[in-house]
Amino acid sequence: MKFEDFSLSKETLKAISEIGFEEPTPIQVSAIPLLLKGLDVVGQAQTGTGKTAAFGVPIVEKCQRGKNPFAIILEPTRELAVQVSQEINKIGKFKKINVLPVYGGTSIERQIKALKRGVDVIVGTPGRIIDHINRKTIFLSDVKIVVLDEADEMLNMGFIEDIETILRTTPQDRQTLLFSATMPQPIMSIAKKYMKNPEKIRV
Ligand code: AMP
Repeated sequence: MKFEDFSLSKETLKAISEIGFEEPTPIQVSAIPLLLKGLDVVGQAQTGTGKTAAFGVPIVEKCQRGKNPFAIILEPTRELAVQVSQEINKIGKFKKINVLPVYGGTSIERQIKALKRGVDVIVGTPGRIIDHINRKTIFLSDVKIVVLDEADEMLNMGFIEDIETILRTTPQDRQTLLFSATMPQPIMSIAKKYMKNPEKIRV
């Protein structure tokens, strides 16, 4: 299997080749076609499997730039928010996708300035995103894709209510993706409550 087999734009293929990915990992082989079709996906996968590009490639490929964010990716920690935003930024380089990491413990003013300039993909921690929603500095009314990454870690860190608030702030016709190393009951409940007939992938 090659990335060329996924019917991706030349911009996305060029970015993938520039990053140096030669062939898709198993989770990418399973997830990319489902995500390009617009399906909801629950992926049981550890870090190191290539799951970031598994959702990053379809997000970049489908991204339509507009006034408000197209996709929002929730992460348990600032380190992951930064890391994932860097990888998606690279994948979106030739489509000129604007990616912004949004996390707590740092100046909100600078984030607000960046948000005002226009952001296509937000990668952030739930608490700070709620803060921006309340300040009306993030508008999720045009979001088409939501990713809950490392969902079990977000649960452990006490973010479950924030996640539900954020999900309820996005349109119902969104595509929802959930990735988690383990699938405890509260995560299964989130999937049941907020996802539409999710396809399940395990690697
Ligand atoms: P992740 O599981 O998303 O944290 O990715 C783990 C590492 O694998 C990261 O350094 C990625 O850049 C890298 N990676 C992701 N997809 C591929 C691929 N298809 N080929 C080679 N490396 C990859």
